[in-house]
Parts: sequence; structure tokens; C-alpha cells
Amino acid sequence: MAESVLNSWDRPAPERAGKPSVFALLPEDFAAMGAPGRAEHIFVQCQHPWAWVDSRPRVSREIRDWMAEHLDCALPQIVERHGSEDGSTKLVLALADGERIEAVHMPRDVRNPRVTLCISSQVGCAMGCTFCATGAMGIRRNLTAGEIVGQVLVLLLELGPDKPHQITLVFMGMGEPLHNLDHVHRAIQVFNHERGLNISTRRITVSTSGLVSGIEKLAKLTPRPWLALSLNATTDAARGAVMPVNRVWNLARLRQALDQWSPGPKEKLTIEYVLMAGVNDTLEDADRLAAWMGELRHGHNLNLIRMNEHAASTFKEPAEARLATFVAHLKALGCFVTVRKSRGRDVQAACGQLIHKGHPQV
Ligand code: SAH
Ligand code: SF4
Repeated sequence: MAESVLNSWDRPAPERAGKPSVFALLPEDFAAMGAPGRAEHIFVQCQHPWAWVDSRPRVSREIRDWMAEHLDCALPQIVERHGSEDGSTKLVLALADGERIEAVHMPRDVRNPRVTLCISSQVGCAMGCTFCATGAMGIRRNLTAGEIVGQVLVLLLELGPDKPHQITLVFMGMGEPLHNLDHVHRAIQVFNHERGLNISTRRITVSTSGLVSGIEKLAKLTPRPWLALSLNATTDAARGAVMPVNRVWNLARLRQALDQWSPGPKEKLTIEYVLMAGVNDTLEDADRLAAWMGELRHGHNLNLIRMNEHAASTFKEPAEARLATFVAHLKALGCFVTVRKSRGRDVQAACGQLIHKGHPQV
């Protein structure tokens, strides 16, 4: 994997060749395009799916005709819906060119109306992590900002919630969000806009495999989401073996980029660590992990994830006793550590299990 490929890979998404998506526009864009009516009103109507009629923004006939002429008004279409016994739901969505992506709706629990939406940023992924089903697909294309926003609007329309402050967004679905930074960032601008869903940046997390050029670019952007880093191994040899991106930007370079990320008030970095039996689950791994975390300059949380097994990888999750020993050892070393409750495993909706049905690896 060459750095040039990671920096310049940018296969055009369809909207660039055609009309811009109505869902990716900010009020000032509607104004600049000469929309009939108040630009802010059109933006509000487009971004509040609760008020829609027949799955369409509620706007006047004149505005609707103008939109149809100048903009792409298509939303991703739901082609499959898989409900997990734990209450989460995976939607398979078809895009205008027939490509498919997956998005997962995870209510906190029955007593809590808050919902986390796990969304995709690319069709497939170029990073090739050997434990991940999406990685096995390879990259097909970037999502446009309109498709990223559309994905969230479809989830809300289909499954709620109907109160924007109950939404948490995580870019942990298909794809490496920092490999599609322009569109991901435009979508975040739309989500964060005070007249739109108004989702605070502390409730938007972008998870990266460690694309240093992207971390450095994102660090300077406004609005800036919170960052999660998928660390997954603690030596360059071990990390490079399962995450090819580490052969371009190694652990030392990654730490340098993280140290330069200046966190906002209360902001914490999340470090994700997928535990794989016999790969990264020894007490020596825990020692190195604690040391790596201890040297981070900023506040952070460590989130352990059990390897979700799937047909595209031979890696297995560790036995529960092994996991418990690993966690106890980290705690004894002073780490604050949580173990992610993987959601939707029974419907292949958990981290790292998202892949096209029909793909040869399935
Ligand atoms: N590309 C980004 C975000 C999508 S992957 C990234 O890699 O961070 C989201 C999370 O799922 C990452 O932390 C990744 O390490 C984890 N993951 C990938 N495959 C997994 C698997 N099979 N089991 C458990 N977690 C997995
Ligand atoms: Fe891509 Fe993330 Fe999967 Fe790696 S873990 S292949 S970066 S989606």
C-alpha cells in the first residue's frame, strides 16, 4: 500500500458528474443557486424527516419543481431490513447506481430513547484489514455527502428517533471515513447545522484505522467531530500484519498525529482494540497497550471489542476467561477500559461484519 494511493484515491462519486444532492446542501448553497423561497426554510424542510409527506420534504409545488429540475432528490432505498434480537436493526440500502451499503440502528435500551446510528462512508474499503469483512470487499467507491446524509435520513424516517438530541452518529460502518474526508466533512457540516438536525460534534465520532494524512487534515477543520482510533495491535510488526495502513504510517507517526490533535473541552479520544485469539490477547500485549495509552498526551478511553467472527476471516474471538484476564490486567495497570457490547451479531450487523450480500466472501 503506497502513501500516494491513500492520499489521492478519489474515484468520482456520481453526483459530481450530475446534479448535486438536495440533502448535501446548506442554506447558503440553496441561496447561491437561486432557489425560489427562503433558503433556510428549504434546508429545514429537507433535514427534518419527521415532517415529510410520502417520504418527501414538505415544500411548496414551486420549490418541489425547482428542486426536481436542479437537484438530485433521490434517497437511498431500503432493500433489506434485518432485526436483531438485541433490538438493533441493520438496513441494506441501494444507491442510485445500484451499489449497496449497510447502516445499523442501535437503540440504547428499552428504557432509554437514545439511539446510536452506525453509518457507512464508502462502498467497501481500501484499507484491507485482515480481520474485517468490509476490507475483504476492497473499495468500490466513495459515498457522496448526499448519500451519507440520505442514509441517516432514511434510518430516521424508518426507525426514528424523532428527537434529534437523542441521536449519536458513529462513522463505524463500511469504509474508512478519512479516505473520503471531503464528503464526510460536508455531511458533518449538514448534521451539525443549528437549523438542521443540530447534532453536536461530541455526538459524532469518526473512527479511523490510522490514516495519518486524514487525521492531520481533520484536526484543522470546523466543525470537528470526535475521533476514535482503531489501534488493534501494539508493535509495528503485529499491526502491519493485520492492518496494511501501518506499513505507511507506523505507530510512532500515528502517535505524533494524535499528539497534535488539540482536544476541545471534555473531548476524549477513543482507542479501539479488537481482541483476536492468539493474535493480540496476551498479557505482554496488555502491558504494551497500557504503556502506549499511558504515553498519549490527551484524555482517552480504551474500548475493547471482541472479534466478531465472519466468513471472510479465520480470526476468532478469545475465550471469555482470556478476555477477563486481559481486562483485569489492564485495570491493574491503571487503564480505564470498557468492553464494547457488540450489537446485531445474529444478523451480521456488528463491527467488521458489514459486507455486500452476494460478494464472493459471503
Ligand atoms: N474504517 C474505520 C471505521 C469502520 S470499522 C476503522 O477501521 O476504524 C469500525 C470498527 O470495527 C473499527 O474499530 C475496527 O477495528 C472494528 N472491526 C473491524 N473488523 C472487526 C471484527 N471482525 N470484529 C470486531 N471489530 C471489528
Ligand atoms: Fe476498512 Fe475499518 Fe474494515 Fe479496516 S477495519 S478494512 S479500515 S472498514
